[in-house]
Amino acid sequence: MPAPTELAARLAEIAARGRLRRRWARDGGQGAHIWLEGREYLSFASNDYLGLANHSELVAEVQIAAGRHGVGAGAAHLLSGHHALHQALEAELAAFVGLPAALLFTCGYMANLGVVTALLGHHDAIFADRLNHASLTDAAILSRAQHHRYPHLDLAALERMLADSRARVKLIATDAVFSMDGDLAPLPELLALAERYGAWLYVDDAHGFGVLGAEGRGSLEHHRLTLHPSPLPPHPALIYMATLGKAAGVSGAFVAGSPELIDWLTQRARTHIYTTASPPMLAAAVRRSLRLIRAGEQRRAQLRGLIERLRRGAEGLPWRLRPSDTPIQPLIVGEDAAAVQLSEALRTRGLWVPAIRPPTVPEGTARLRISLSAAHREADIDRLLEALHAIATECR
Ligand SMILES: *Cc1c(COP(=O)(O)O)cnc(C)c1O
Repeated sequence: MPAPTELAARLAEIAARGRLRRRWARDGGQGAHIWLEGREYLSFASNDYLGLANHSELVAEVQIAAGRHGVGAGAAHLLSGHHALHQALEAELAAFVGLPAALLFTCGYMANLGVVTALLGHHDAIFADRLNHASLTDAAILSRAQHHRYPHLDLAALERMLADSRARVKLIATDAVFSMDGDLAPLPELLALAERYGAWLYVDDAHGFGVLGAEGRGSLEHHRLTLHPSPLPPHPALIYMATLGKAAGVSGAFVAGSPELIDWLTQRARTHIYTTASPPMLAAAVRRSLRLIRAGEQRRAQLRGLIERLRRGAEGLPWRLRPSDTPIQPLIVGEDAAAVQLSEALRTRGLWVPAIRPPTVPEGTARLRISLSAAHREADIDRLLEALHAIATECR
């Protein structure tokens, strides 16, 4: 069969299993209400947890910075693309999360690929939670290290794997907040294991940064791993990564850790070296975003209130919310088709809540990933709950 025909056949197969995905073109900014292909929806589908993606202060910052510094960085960091705004942002990010140094990447996917491949080769081993983000899985494959995946949050299994490993360099990799479940990794226990077995601990905080911790400094603040009692770097094996396109509302990512680690990554992280630096105007926006995050206690309190309201109101539904205290609230439906139907039924009511199906989540756990934002109001949660209860009654 010629290759293009083969692709068409495979696409038809995916469609027959009800797993074809499509994109909907959005018009206008991200927010609680969005316009998709000519229709307005109340949306529970973004990672813009603090409602900053469309914030007027960030927009103004980008406009000013574009006027002064232009649009594109024009080169990679090691050539002429590294801008004073990048440099200042790296220092601010490191201080913000309480680690000695930081390095920018254009996105979280690239950060994960870059760090893992810079630290591990084929004599080495990575130990990864089964529910880690796809980019960490790809990073492991690209590094050619042995890839050990342990059952979700199963520290005993992880410890057995660490004890059995003869690898030269070991790295434990985990999402700090799991992206499709919203639950937290036990970072203090993982760090203790890393230290006991001489391994690195790589923490992907894409969904914790800005959201967790009293000042939104993320999972390390939440678990009191840095900044308590003083901003000291007590854990040289700790590598922290967070993205800047979710709660921070902009784009990009950074890795933070010891000065030696950051120096090494500057020399060896291929996804930092062989790519154009992100536009300096975005660094300006992130710097402003950091201030809004730090002063964002009201936004985080709003978010906590909404989470509680949703969880209380979801009791009595035929579908269960997985335990989660974060803005990621997975409503488990089970079968793919049923999850898609529920999402469709909400859509006809003007509610945008995407169904997440395998392979993004394990078989038989298709779900609605309800994602809350400080931009939502209580009435928005109530509207979602009313729709879910109404659909549940119709199904009976
Ligand atoms: C979104 C996400 C990434 C990728 O970050 P981008 O900046 O969007 O490329 C990495 N890890 C996790 C856990 C994520 O949720």
